[in-house]
Amino acid sequence: MIRRSKIRSCLLALLAGLAALLGPAGQARSAAETKEPPSKRVAIVIDDLGNNMSGTDEIMSAPIPLTVAVMPFLPTTKRDAEWAHKVGHDVIVHLPMEPLRGRKNWLGPGAITTDLTDDDIRRRVEAAIDEVPFAIGINNHMGSKATADERVMRIVLDVCKKRGLFFLDSKTNYRSVVSKIAVDSGVRVLENEIFLDDVVSTSHITKQLQLIHKRAMDNSLCIAIGHVGIPGKKTAAVLHQSAPAMKDDIRFIKLSELAAIKP
Ligand SMILES: [Zn+2]
Repeated sequence: MIRRSKIRSCLLALLAGLAALLGPAGQARSAAETKEPPSKRVAIVIDDLGNNMSGTDEIMSAPIPLTVAVMPFLPTTKRDAEWAHKVGHDVIVHLPMEPLRGRKNWLGPGAITTDLTDDDIRRRVEAAIDEVPFAIGINNHMGSKATADERVMRIVLDVCKKRGLFFLDSKTNYRSVVSKIAVDSGVRVLENEIFLDDVVSTSHITKQLQLIHKRAMDNSLCIAIGHVGIPGKKTAAVLHQSAPAMKDDIRFIKLSELAAIKP
């Protein structure tokens, strides 16, 4: 008896499974109908636009949605921001900030340095935002010194809050205070996890993209930063070549998708 009821329950389970597989009309649902967009997400940010840098054209035509970080007060600042917006990428301000090392002239105009007064910092951040059309956030260009300075970062985040922008910490210094002060700032703060092109070679950039893919699969989300300029053409070529094949199990997103969630 026990055996027969066991067989019956197995049969019932099998029938229930079959019923679930078949639609209400009794027809098998197609794979396309049942397929949901991947829940694992990758956000790629491309830094250093605004100065007619190498690779700009190829980044604009990338086959995935991107977020481009445009430096203020440069010859193609407005052109690049408007171009990116037109082709559907997100735009953020790439704010030049003081590094621990490196030449000051790498910083670009309107840089935020730790010797500025509170008012000057505030004015410079406001002016940078006004320079970059369609900006929905800010990230730091260089900034290993400035992002570790609590006074400076409180002012930067305060301006972000007033203007309704998020802040992406590029993480040029692991001692950055941004995440520490983010909670009481009320500003949405995001963090870069991987630099896509810290070594300028196609094989390295390809490996980094695979690593980004793996991190997204493991942690649900990965934010990464690449560049126009010296690595620009190579970075863009890797995105054109390798990113489309990853769309089956990850979804490439723009930072605006993450910006709505408050800290
Ligand atoms: Zn930069």
